Amino acid sequence: MTKWNLIIDIARCENCHNCVIAERDEHVGNDFPGYAAPAAAVGDSPIRIMRRVQGSAPLVETTYLPALCNHCDDAPCQRAAPDAIRKRDDGIVIIDPVKARGRREIVGSCPYGAIVWNDQHEVPQNWIFDAHLLDQGWTQPRCAQVCPTEAIQALKLDDSAMQAKAADEDLGVLNPEFGTRPRVWYRGLDRWQTCFIGGSVSAEAGGVLDCVAGAEVTLSHDGRHVATTTSDAFGDFRFGGLARDSGAYRVEVAHAGGRASRDCPLGESVYLGELRLIPDPPSTNTQPLAPGGK
Ligand code: SF4
Ligand code: SF4
Repeated sequence: MTKWNLIIDIARCENCHNCVIAERDEHVGNDFPGYAAPAAAVGDSPIRIMRRVQGSAPLVETTYLPALCNHCDDAPCQRAAPDAIRKRDDGIVIIDPVKARGRREIVGSCPYGAIVWNDQHEVPQNWIFDAHLLDQGWTQPRCAQVCPTEAIQALKLDDSAMQAKAADEDLGVLNPEFGTRPRVWYRGLDRWQTCFIGGSVSAEAGGVLDCVAGAEVTLSHDGRHVATTTSDAFGDFRFGGLARDSGAYRVEVAHAGGRASRDCPLGESVYLGELRLIPDPPSTNTQPLAPGGK
C-alpha cells in the first residue's frame, strides 16, 4: 500500500515563508469538517521555519529548516489520545477537530512541538498534510506547491520503496532517537546537526600580511588524525561534519612559509580566525667536521 511522505531539501530552503503563508491561507477561517477546524488568525502556525546560525564573520553559515507534523507511524500524540487522533491508511495523522476540542494537554504530547493550540476554537491542531486536498486529487500539499525553490516534495510510495529511497539518497528524519518513525524526511540534515571548524591562514613577509593559499591544514581529535585539507585562494579552510560538543581538536598548518597550530574544544561551530605562519628556524649544519677540520 502506498502512503504519503514528505521530503524537504534543507539546502534549498531560503526562509521565504511561502509555505507558512500558504498553510495559513488554506486554513485560517476555513472549516474542513473531519479534517481540521478553522485555524485562528492569531497564534502559532503548524509550519515553522527554524534557523541555525553557525560560526562568526567572515565564516558564517545560516541554515533554515522547515518543521511541521511528521505524521509519525508510531505517534506519541496518538498514543496519548487514541480516541481523538487517528492514523489514516495513507499515513496521515489527523487530530479530530470535534473529539479533540478543549483538550489542551494534547499539545504537549508531541515531542517535536508540532501541535499548536487554537485559542479561538479551543482545539489542538497539526499540519494535516492538506489531506482534504489530496483526497480531492491534488498531488502536492500547498506548502510544496508554493515553494519557489522546490525544497518540499510529497511522495506517495510503499514503505519499502521509501526506505530504499532514503538509503539511496541519504535522507534522514528528525530525532530518530524518539522512535516515532516520522514520514517527513530531510535531505542535507548534516547542515542542521553537525558543526565545522574553520579558519584563515596568513603570513607576514617584508612587513606585509597576506593570506596563504595552498597550505596543508590537518585536523586531529584526541591525538587521532581526522582530516586534511588545503587553504583556498583566500587562505580559508573549513572542516565540516563534526559532532557537537565533541571535545578537544587540534588544527595544524604546514606550508613552505612556516607552521601554525591551534587547540580548539568544540561545542558549536567555530571560526578560529587567523592562523599566522611562524617561519621554520633556519637549518643549522650539524655534520661533524671531517678529520683534519675539512
Ligand atoms: S517555501 Fe520553500 S524556500 Fe520558502 S520557507 Fe518554505 S521550504 Fe523554505
Ligand atoms: S509529529 Fe507530533 S503531532 Fe505529528 S504525528 Fe508525530 S507526535 Fe503526532
